[in-house]
Amino acid sequence: MLIVFVIKPARRKRFFADPYNMASKSLIPLLLALLVVVTVAEAINNYYGYKVITVQAKTDEQVKAIRELEKLENVNFWKEPNIHTTTDICVPPRHINRVKLTLMSLGLEPKITVENVQLLIFEAIAANSVARFEASSFRSGVSKQARVKKYFLRLVEIDAWMKQLAAENPSLIKVWSIGQSHEGRHTLAMRIGDGTKPGIFIDAGIHAREWLAVSTALYLINELVDGLKTGKTTDLLAKYDWYFVPVVNPDGYEYTHTNKRMWRKNRRPMSYCVGADPNRNFDINFGGAGTSSQSCQDTYHGTSAFSEPCARNLAVLLMGLSQKNRLVAYMSLHAYAQMWFTPFAYSRWARPDDIDELTRVAKIGARAIYNTNGKSYTVGSPANILYEAAGSSMDWVKAKTNIKYAFAMEMRPSMGSRNGFIVPPSEIVPAGEEMFAGITAMAAAMRR
Ligand SMILES: [Zn+2]
Repeated sequence: MLIVFVIKPARRKRFFADPYNMASKSLIPLLLALLVVVTVAEAINNYYGYKVITVQAKTDEQVKAIRELEKLENVNFWKEPNIHTTTDICVPPRHINRVKLTLMSLGLEPKITVENVQLLIFEAIAANSVARFEASSFRSGVSKQARVKKYFLRLVEIDAWMKQLAAENPSLIKVWSIGQSHEGRHTLAMRIGDGTKPGIFIDAGIHAREWLAVSTALYLINELVDGLKTGKTTDLLAKYDWYFVPVVNPDGYEYTHTNKRMWRKNRRPMSYCVGADPNRNFDINFGGAGTSSQSCQDTYHGTSAFSEPCARNLAVLLMGLSQKNRLVAYMSLHAYAQMWFTPFAYSRWARPDDIDELTRVAKIGARAIYNTNGKSYTVGSPANILYEAAGSSMDWVKAKTNIKYAFAMEMRPSMGSRNGFIVPPSEIVPAGEEMFAGITAMAAAMRR
């Protein structure tokens, strides 16, 4: 907000109408300085001295005991406790000893993977500010279209970018709003293609802090459109229509830029705390395993199925397209853990009839990812390789629509890494490359 006040009203209007153009002329040094000030002032209050403690639970009893730690104020799971992978727990300074002792009393071996969360955030955001500055300079040679590969964009920039791409390619691209969030922001959808072909639907940003998922959706759009010039994506666009909703949870995404980098939920006020997890709010086993009925917790499922506007907006779009038989595949992008999920997430025992076919395609996708940058992605249902989670978009799509290939992706980095959600902008391109390879391999492997 500080930035808005120091820009004269006339310039402010032009800036938001065309942020790239205005910024490249004269505002970038000012914006850069202000961004650093805002970042330092706001973020230091949030995570100074916080550590990430990583631990591997071995039994369901240990998982249960670890879950209790979230009741301590400001203790936050970067990944929910489970027996399949390590659990990364973000802990404020005053609870560090208590959490470590509790874990050790359970017979576990806690390790500190991030010494100071705030420094990590500061490093990543400073790197993003520099990348933004470099990419936005009119001397940089970076086209407006390619800027999505250079830095993590704010929502206003993403929306402007999507609209501009549609304006430049009116016969190929359509952009429209699928509805408003609780705070009144529009959620934009994009279709690349004429709407007559089978569709592949990709969304991201249902969890606010997963910036790499959002940047990857934009990267994929950019690759598909840019590839037409070289012929690289001509076949992909001839065979499929591509649908994108890059920021499903726009209020949460903005909040991670302006207030709290590690925010996960949406921003609708609840009885005690703010926000529900939109990916626990879909009408599939609502309120089941891996969800919380406590509004202060990160996996709070919301007041009822589809109580959250951002989940509802997405579901209405998906159901409408499904009823017109427009979609063959659904992919929800998340970060992090390096996993390619097949349905179902809500129970270890539930699986769709065609699980073998879905697994076959997912493994081909994961192999393509590995062949790109050497990153291993584990294939399986969330309930069997990570944790159970009822009310997810992937489960709802598979169970309630006619979309056959329903997947979700936990992108890089792997569990227990130093970065978790807080990746620098240098990760945008490698993450985008491997996801482009994975999803195009998926598209080629699907049987119709
Ligand atoms: Zn997520």
